Amino acid sequence: MSSAIEKDLVIVGGGPAGLSAAIYAQRAMLDTVTLEQEAVGGQVVLTSDVDNYPGVPHTDGFSLVDAMQRQAEDLGAQIVMENVSSIARDEETGLFAVKTTSCEYEAKTVIVAGGATPRKAGFEGELEYAGKGVSYCATCDGMFFRGREVFVIGGGNSAAEEALFLTRFAEKVTLIVRKDHLRAQAAVAEKLNNNPKTSIRFLTSIVGVSGEGSIQRITFRNNETSEEYAEEFEQGVGVFVFVGRVPASELVANLVERNGVGYVVANERMETKTPGLFVAGDVREKPLRQIVTAASDGAIAATSASAYLGHPVDS
Ligand SMILES: Cc1cc2nc3c(=O)[nH]c(=O)nc-3n(C[C@H](O)[C@H](O)[C@H](O)COP(=O)(O)OP(=O)(O)OC[C@H]3O[C@@H](n4cnc5c(N)ncnc54)[C@H](O)[C@@H]3O)c2cc1C
Repeated sequence: MSSAIEKDLVIVGGGPAGLSAAIYAQRAMLDTVTLEQEAVGGQVVLTSDVDNYPGVPHTDGFSLVDAMQRQAEDLGAQIVMENVSSIARDEETGLFAVKTTSCEYEAKTVIVAGGATPRKAGFEGELEYAGKGVSYCATCDGMFFRGREVFVIGGGNSAAEEALFLTRFAEKVTLIVRKDHLRAQAAVAEKLNNNPKTSIRFLTSIVGVSGEGSIQRITFRNNETSEEYAEEFEQGVGVFVFVGRVPASELVANLVERNGVGYVVANERMETKTPGLFVAGDVREKPLRQIVTAASDGAIAATSASAYLGHPVDS
């Protein structure tokens, strides 16, 4: 006899997508558990200002997701701190075995809402100086560089936007761009060019950082000539890395279609190619990764799971 805990629905991830799915699953009366490995609220917990969630003119990320969690729990949602280590589907029964570090669930449906984590740039000292100068979150760590110099690695929209955000604190912000052009939207690029605190070093990479407890030396490479040169800084500087994100899709790699950079491909009902397996939020391929779209995905995924279980919801 299996000792697995039986559920109608297991939601992997307790960020906005997972919490929204939990709210809709409760209202559809599905026996559901939401599993979160780190912090309920996901990436939003680390976001100091949220100005673009409709109906909430201005808030900090923690308050917003705390309200989502309370709303879900008030409706009876069960949220458990567990790391999901594997998901497999029994072809005969169609049931999913969802293993965590301490137990196993047998689920009729699963929603994968694990989000995405920042990609590393790969320079020497990157991991060693994480939290001591290397950061992946301008809103979280920008204030530690008030009046100082910071470098931002990346040429896309988020790098450009975060560089602009960092000008609120830093004295000087230099964007380090591997190629000879930016991939940011024209309007963002224009703002960067017009900001007296920002400059851009094209065709440049950071190859290493070092220092006594903070970053006091950076080695750069000119990607055109391959020449390397170092710069020293009296005060510790910041190196903010925005070179993309890695979606938490490895868990379901064999069950879903993924695009070239690992995002899960789903249809507008959040259905993947595996019946009963749904996806929501930043982990899926989509044009806009925000709280509002994550919440929307979660609502649709839970509604689709309910329909899959024979309880369609009229909209
Ligand atoms: C610095 C920063 C600022 C931002 N500012 C804004 C903003 O102002 N407005 C806005 O709309 N959006 C903002 N965003 C984007 C927004 O945070 C995301 O779009 C949103 O959080 C996506 O929600 P999600 O639930 O899909 O993923 P996440 O928030 O990433 O949540 C996924 C959760 O799944 C968990 N998880 C992953 N794998 C497992 C596993 N195996 N087992 C258990 N749990 C797992 C993770 O721990 C995480 O808690 C910001 C993002 C960042 C990084």
